[in-house]
Order: sequence, then C-alpha cells, then structure tokens
Amino acid sequence: MWSTAGCSAPAICSPPGRARPSPPSEAGPVTAVYLDHNATAPLRPEARDAMLAALESVGNPSSVHRFGREARRLAEAGRRQVAALAGVAPAQIVFTGGATEANALALTGLGRRRILASAIEHDSALAWAAERIPVGGDGRVDLDALDRLLAAGGEPAIVSVMAVNNETGVIQPVAEAAAIARRHGALIHCDAVQAAGRIPLPAVGAEVDALSLSAHKLGGPQGIGALVLRDGLPLAPLLRGGAQEGRRRAGTENVAGIAGFGAAAAAVADRADMPRIAALRDELERRLTAEGAVVLGAGAPRVANTSCVAMPGVTAETQVAALDLAGVAVSAGSACSSGKVRRSHVLEAMGLPDDLAESAIRISLGPATDAEAIDRCVAAWIDLSRRRRSRAVA
Ligand code: PMP
Repeated sequence: MWSTAGCSAPAICSPPGRARPSPPSEAGPVTAVYLDHNATAPLRPEARDAMLAALESVGNPSSVHRFGREARRLAEAGRRQVAALAGVAPAQIVFTGGATEANALALTGLGRRRILASAIEHDSALAWAAERIPVGGDGRVDLDALDRLLAAGGEPAIVSVMAVNNETGVIQPVAEAAAIARRHGALIHCDAVQAAGRIPLPAVGAEVDALSLSAHKLGGPQGIGALVLRDGLPLAPLLRGGAQEGRRRAGTENVAGIAGFGAAAAAVADRADMPRIAALRDELERRLTAEGAVVLGAGAPRVANTSCVAMPGVTAETQVAALDLAGVAVSAGSACSSGKVRRSHVLEAMGLPDDLAESAIRISLGPATDAEAIDRCVAAWIDLSRRRRSRAVA
C-alpha cells in the first residue's frame, strides 16, 4: 500500500523524504502532506521491488555470460513494459537519463535544424528552439499561429508540443498540431511527461514522430526516461561510443532504473486512480474558489491531478512557505531551481496579469492523496488567505 505517512515536510523543489520523523507539534506529531507530484512522485512499491531485485543481481547487459544475459533480461522486461504504456514495439524505445535528455535527443537528433516549440514547453525543450509558438489565454497552444509560422516557409522543421503542461495541467491539442506539422512536412515531437498514466498518450507513428517520458513523474525512479520513436525513424545519438539502445544512446544501461521505470509504467497504464483523483481535485478547487481563489487554465481540458491556483495579493513564495510550515508541500509553478522562485514563463505566455501570475501555486495530487490531505491543504490555504485579508483591512 501507498503511504507517505511519517515523511517530513520537504523543502521547495525537493522530493519527498521517506519514513523520516515528522516535526513535532503541540497536538502531537503531524505527518506531512505531499502535493507536488508534478515535480516528482514518490517511488511506487512495485518500482522499488523491481529495482531492489535488479540491484541484487550483477551483470552488464552487453556481457555474453549468464550474468550479462540476466541483466539483459531485466532491461528488456522493463523495455517491454514502457513500450506497452506507449503502445509501441520495444525497439522503438530509447532509454535516456530522463526527459531532459529525451527532449534534447529528439530536438537535436532527428536531423531538423529549424526547431519550433510552444511557449509553455519545459525549459529542456525551449533550450533548443529558436522559434516559439504562442498560446491562448486558456493555456492551449495557438494552432493558427503554428500554421502561420510553418507556412511562412524556411527549411524543414521539427515542432515540439507537450501533451500536458506541467504547471497548469492543461491538455494540449497534440493531434491537431501534428496534423498541421505533417501538412507542412515538419516532424513533431511531444513531451508527454505529465500525461503518462493520466490520459491516453498521443499515438507514436499515427500522430507524433517522437515522444518523451520520465520515470519519476509516474512513480518510477529519478534519472531514467525514454524517447519513443516512430518505427524506423533514424536518430543521431547525442552520446556515442557504444552500441547500446540500437546505437542511439551509448553507455551501459541503467538496469535498475529501467526495471523500476517498467514496473511503474505497468502500474499506471490503466489510469484506474484518475476518477478518484479528479473528485479530490474538484473538491479542492470548489473549496478554494469559495474563498476567493482563481483557478488558472480552468477554461481548458485539464488532467485530473493538477490545480494551478492564485491567491490574489499574496506571492506564490509566501504561500509555498506558509503551506510548508503547515506541513503541506506544494510548489510555485515549476519555476524553481535551488529553492528560488522566479517568474513562470508559462503563466506569462498565457498573458495573465502580473498580480495573478505572481500569486499562483501548483497543487499536484497523486496516488497517496486522500480526503484528509485535501482538508489539510484547504485549511492551511484558507488560514493564510484570511490572515492576509484581515491584515489588509486593519
Ligand atoms: N518535461 C516536463 C513537462 C517536465 O515536467 C519535466 C520535469 N520537471 C521534464 C520535462 C524533465 O524531466 P526529467 O526530470 O526527467 O529530466
């Protein structure tokens, strides 16, 4: 069974601690509530078991002896599970050190020097793209703008549009973007990190040419991801000097990481927990909006687990710190590194007024989230909101 009970409140941006003592309070020990699954999800028990089993065995999958063959068997089992999640053949999977690397591999390795990315992509995709596709106020990519950019001509392009935005949870029109890209002879890459296990993934082959995944967003370990490729699509490697991954990514395979990724992928593939999580998220938003919260991206289709909520007049940093003090871990958009919060390029691209964008936090639910977690979050949020309002009046 899932449990984050007993974990101490993590610092902003850091993954949840496991089974560490909780901070004492007058009412006795409190357990921390982890509502930052879009940053990283706790390791699923299935993934942990698969990893421990892999770590117990020795062997390089490239070795021909029995130990090597056993390591190869474990890696190939994980590959089949990830391939099943993506609905492709195992040979279409290239394991990487995470989605940051998968995005880099897609955007540098598919032979297109003209790179367009939606303005709300993760930085690891934006870093490679000279051209930005704007988004509307609802947080969805502007398809007419994509059409115009590609129609303006230029060399053959690759277009990167994510399946689900990590800050707002807004589902992007990937199939429509793919049809436009195809009409203009462009390739299309999709960062599906926040979609996996939550909504059906874009079809690799029929819709997109390449798709990025990351294990730690779906209950697998950190430091392992995959680029899923259309069957037969040639890819120039970033890392050279080895025949691994069909000569598309050199380096000894992360066997335990692949085993954990595979087990997590198999555990989330049926998306069975999503209706329960959607009900909890709807209840959270109902109670917060009744207290004056503004839900960003609410006008567009969204994944079940993500809520981007603004408390006008109170900075996101203040809210994250106040909720953390109350034992509730959320984040200020995804826009943080080294614990520092900076302006969100996603909310900026949506054209939100500064006061709203600067007061938005991201609350992201996961398998261990229950009604009590929602109660704790709502209570801490309302407490801060009311304190701020009474101070404003005084
Ligand atoms: N893309 C998206 C949408 C993400 O949310 C993240 C993680 N924040 C990444 C890419 C990067 O993934 P990884 O941590 O596996 O490099």
